[in-house]
Amino acid sequence: MGSGESKVVYMDNNATTRVAPEVVEAMMPYLTDYYGNPSSMHSFGGQVGEAVKKARLQVAQLLGCDTDEVTFTSCGTESDSTAILSALRAYPEKRHIITTRVEHPAIKNLCDNISHITGHKYRVTRLKVSNDGMIDMDEYAQALSDDTAIVSVMWANNETGVILPVSDMARMAKSRNILFHTDAVQAVGKIPINLAEEDIDYLSLAGHKLHAPKGVGVLYVRKGTAFVPFLSGGHQEDGRRGGTENVASIVALGRACELANEMMEDENTRVRALRDKLEQGLLTTIPKSMLNGNKHSRLPNTANISFEFVEGEAILLHMNRYNICASSGSACTSGSLEPSHVLRAMGVPFTAAHGSIRFSLSIYNTEEEVDFVLEKMPIIINELRKMSPFWEDD
Ligand SMILES: *Cc1c(COP(=O)(O)O)cnc(C)c1O
Repeated sequence: MGSGESKVVYMDNNATTRVAPEVVEAMMPYLTDYYGNPSSMHSFGGQVGEAVKKARLQVAQLLGCDTDEVTFTSCGTESDSTAILSALRAYPEKRHIITTRVEHPAIKNLCDNISHITGHKYRVTRLKVSNDGMIDMDEYAQALSDDTAIVSVMWANNETGVILPVSDMARMAKSRNILFHTDAVQAVGKIPINLAEEDIDYLSLAGHKLHAPKGVGVLYVRKGTAFVPFLSGGHQEDGRRGGTENVASIVALGRACELANEMMEDENTRVRALRDKLEQGLLTTIPKSMLNGNKHSRLPNTANISFEFVEGEAILLHMNRYNICASSGSACTSGSLEPSHVLRAMGVPFTAAHGSIRFSLSIYNTEEEVDFVLEKMPIIINELRKMSPFWEDD
């Protein structure tokens, strides 16, 4: 970004977030002066161990859990894989997994390939969702069985922001003595979480979705829950995850969790108001546009909107000319435009799923940016529709 170029309007925070300046400041010393190994006996390493300990406390305070329930990993994907494989290895006689049709690829592809990965045959129930992305609790209740090794349901959907009823679902699993994992990568930092009040056994989070750097995550494992490590090696992380700690990023994640606690109010008032203004503005000024996902059970920062009869990727390219960053619900894979599995599971009509755009805001967005996007989007959609063979002006 040269200084002469126009400013980037970043509304793609569910893809990744800006590292908070406070977080950069906290981690810097661990890239320069404090390079010791936290496992070393000498105090030069020991002081680094203290920093990791502090970060673990900061994470625990955001989640409402104990420090010894927090294991640092390399990313959200590693946390997800570790949780599922741990449950399967702890209960090798159980051969059933329950998940949903709207999971992130970190869980979706793992479950699709689980028999190949483990060498065992598994039955996988992928729960349906309604048109607004919610779970059918009757279907879920019927799916739970004595053969179920683990249930994995995301707390909030990355594409639509829809918040799923994980508290109720975890309680139902617990009453049947079934382990429950939640991919909370999109929920942590955006909505209050208190694991002390939940029946959740495993929870995944990723630093780069809450203003820490990429390449660091956490797996929460409830005290007393069966656990088998994914990475065996040294005794780091209490033997739960081998590999010398990514100290600077762990310190960063700790600070980011502390900040998230402080900013939770702003996220749920100011950011929500900005999102609502953007959403309402787009839906009222652009004909044949619609919201995807439950309007009420939703993250405060996310709006997924379909513009019928236009191509999401074309919209993104036009937005890019104005330096507006967002995501589309269709991915150009091997030449065929395939709408996202999430929107397909919700039964979003083909013509709408193809033209869906996800706007995901953060505490760094401003009202001026929302006004700028509200000014440009109708122009972009109108231009594209004029070129669309399916669009008829009336
Ligand atoms: C981003 C994301 C992940 C993956 O996290 P990484 O740190 O990129 O591996 C998993 N689940 C959800 C819901 C996500 O949004």
